[in-house]
Formats: sequence, structure tokens, C-alpha cells
Amino acid sequence: MEAEDELAERARKLFAGPIDFLKSAPGLQFLPDPTVPEIAFAGRSNVGKSSLLNALTNRNGLARTSNTPGRTQELNFFDVGRPLRMRLVDMPGYGFAEAPKDMVRRWRFLINDYLRGRAVLKRALVLVDARHGLKPVDHEVMDMLDGAAVSYHLVLTKADKVKRTDLEPVLERTAEQAAKHPAAHPAIFTTSSETGSGMPELRTAILEATE
Ligand code: GDP
Repeated sequence: MEAEDELAERARKLFAGPIDFLKSAPGLQFLPDPTVPEIAFAGRSNVGKSSLLNALTNRNGLARTSNTPGRTQELNFFDVGRPLRMRLVDMPGYGFAEAPKDMVRRWRFLINDYLRGRAVLKRALVLVDARHGLKPVDHEVMDMLDGAAVSYHLVLTKADKVKRTDLEPVLERTAEQAAKHPAAHPAIFTTSSETGSGMPELRTAILEATE
């Protein structure tokens, strides 16, 4: 088997195997011991982050949506593989229009502290709605990742809702904007949790980032 196929096959098997919720960490003192590589998922609320985590791990209800702003201040950790191979980290959604200022500030502190102090964090995935492209608040988060020198992929979500001809310009514009961010990886993923498109590629990229 070619090396690429071999990696893809291992990624498929890993994500088809045991994956368990570990814990919610509302602050840095609650983080699990940094024993295995971590991959973090970020995105505006409603971007489809829970759906993507569920599609990626072939599970319904692993990640639950919390559309109430007050309940979004935790990092959720999921153990992947037995023996433990990596952790997925569901970061709190951002960009609630009605979020109170001090909540936004707390979010910034939690995320910045986590991003800056976590040597095992190998990559972040910044989810972006394929219908809308990058918003100013996404750039703020990308700036935080740039500043913390955490490399990240942009992942377009809900691609099934966009016609192919409409997707091309969004991809092009997103790539142009990403090129201005030093820690943004040039490869942009296009996914749909509804159809499962893009999931094998994303699983492979995640495994690769942890090796
Ligand atoms: P979160 O707030 O980022 O966790 O977003 P959710 O995963 O809860 O998704 C928000 C809404 O978008 C829900 O109504 C989902 O059913 C819908 N959604 C998420 N992903 C997709 C997708 O790939 N395709 C379509 N058509 N809808 C999606």
C-alpha cells in the first residue's frame, strides 16, 4: 500500500474505534495531563462544530450543541483510541451577537491561555460556514492562533448547502485571506456533516498532524 493510503486507512480505523468523552474544563486548572497530542476545534456558534465532531467520529450525540451563550465557556475533551492515541478538544463557540462583554473576555482568556501553554496541541481546525466565508470574528481567532504559533486548517462546513459554482469563489477568497495569516495551513478542507463529504480527508489530516 502507498504511504498515503496507509495513513488514510489508519485514520479511518482510528475514528471507527473507541472515542469517549473525557471531561469539560471550565478553566486551565481542570485540563487533563498533557500526555497525548491534542487537536482543537474552533468556530462561530452554529457553524456546525458539534455536527462535524459527530460525523468525524461516526457518532451521534458525542458532541452536543449548546446554543445557550452561558453554557459555552468550557473546553470539552474527547479521548480517541484505546490505547489512547490523541484527544479532540471542542472549544467553546464564539461570535454570539448577544454575548455580554465579560463573557467574551473570559472566553478570550481561557482560549489564549490554553493555546499558549499547551505543547501537546498539534493543530487547530477553524470551522467556517461555506455559505458565508470568513467573518471578522474568525480573523480575531486566527490572530490568536497566529500569536500562539498554533498551526491550523480552515474547514468549510455545510458544503451541501452551497452550489458548486458558489463554492469556488468562497474557497478562493478564503484561501486569499488565509494566506495573510502566518499560522494558517494552505490546505483548506471542504466538508459536509450531512453527506459525510470531506470527512476521510479531515481524519487523515488530523492523524498526520499528531505524528
Ligand atoms: P455548532 O453550534 O457549531 O455546534 O453547530 P451545530 O452542529 O449544532 O449545527 C448548527 C445547525 O446547522 C444545526 O441545525 C445543524 O443541523 C446544521 N448543520 C450542521 N452541519 C451541517 C451540514 O453539514 N449540512 C447541513 N445541511 N446542515 C448542517
